[in-house]
Amino acid sequence: MTLALEIPLTEMDHRDAGLFRELLDAVATLAATGEFTGGEAVERFEHDFASWCEARHAVAVSSGTDALILTLRALGIGPGDEVVVPANSFIATAEAVSLVGARPSFADVDLASQLVTAETVERALSPATRCVIAVHLFGRTVDLRSIAQLAHERNLFLVEDAAQAHGARYRQDRVGTHGIAGTFSFYPAKNLGAWGDGGAVVTADARLAERVRLMRSHGERPRYHHRIVGTTARLDAIQATVLSVKLARLDSWNEGRRRVAAELREALRGTPLLPPPPPDADGDHVYHQFVARCAARDTLRGLLAERGIATGIHYPIPIHRSEAYDDLSAGNDVAPCATALARQIISLPIFPGMSPEQVRRIGDVARELGELPVGGRK
Ligand SMILES: *Cc1c(COP(=O)(O)O)cnc(C)c1O
Repeated sequence: MTLALEIPLTEMDHRDAGLFRELLDAVATLAATGEFTGGEAVERFEHDFASWCEARHAVAVSSGTDALILTLRALGIGPGDEVVVPANSFIATAEAVSLVGARPSFADVDLASQLVTAETVERALSPATRCVIAVHLFGRTVDLRSIAQLAHERNLFLVEDAAQAHGARYRQDRVGTHGIAGTFSFYPAKNLGAWGDGGAVVTADARLAERVRLMRSHGERPRYHHRIVGTTARLDAIQATVLSVKLARLDSWNEGRRRVAAELREALRGTPLLPPPPPDADGDHVYHQFVARCAARDTLRGLLAERGIATGIHYPIPIHRSEAYDDLSAGNDVAPCATALARQIISLPIFPGMSPEQVRRIGDVARELGELPVGGRK
């Protein structure tokens, strides 16, 4: 008997028979047109995604990383410039900065929200800073008001990396619409996932949208007239088709994630697990991940694995401590809270259709941990 992955960290589309059929039909219809690049499917998705995000423009691109790279390039950020990024994010946030030739400066997270704040961003500023990338990590919104205020005072661009937070609201407005631009990823496991890679940039700035649009396809308009130096970073029509079908369900899926998160919070009450910080009064949470804290994290992971419950660590090594970037901080830990959190965090399974029974089984293991000698502490 195999116990592996009885409760996966997340569920992919093939587990939902109705959705799967609908997606296959839509892909078959698209394929029959022969229009695999650009065209109506991509334009329709861009239109629908912009309107769902309540943004003026959406430009579909090949990944969340490319969405960040093209945004930074379109803003004219490059060599000699610095961009503030959180020490705790997926590495792509920092990589995009490096790939345009600029330098990432790492902001620590605060222990209460586990996200960057205006104070931690301010400490990461230098005279070379041109931009701040706020990441709504795990689906919880960053305290944007104070960060936007700081960016305004210092004349910095504010970009929201919303790769994990599609649809979350901050003071009424969807994420991605609070700064100069918002970037999204449609990696399959994200709250809105394609059947491969994809991404988007949303903005109210028509010129920025236009530059990103040109750059994603060789600066070309019309055919073989290359106005600026671009690249190949388009969203495929097949992915756009998949995303359009799924977008219609995204609000209800996010609602499902919130329901499961509320049940998980309840199930963890009185156990050695600390649930993730709830959204603040102005904010929201769409629970891309449910990241709990536990002093005996590794013991807990072992127990959950024995019961067939998948877990993840997001992220085991903060970006500033990763091999790719540790030379930037010269051995001096610029983000000690992110480093401390990395030792305690554990991502529990969460997906829209998770059952109360699955939640109960996770709660049972958490309680079992609490009953171990030394309270599960190592
Ligand atoms: C997934 C992700 C990205 C990168 O998206 P890709 O589509 O994988 O390139 C960027 N930032 C964050 C916060 C992410 O979670």
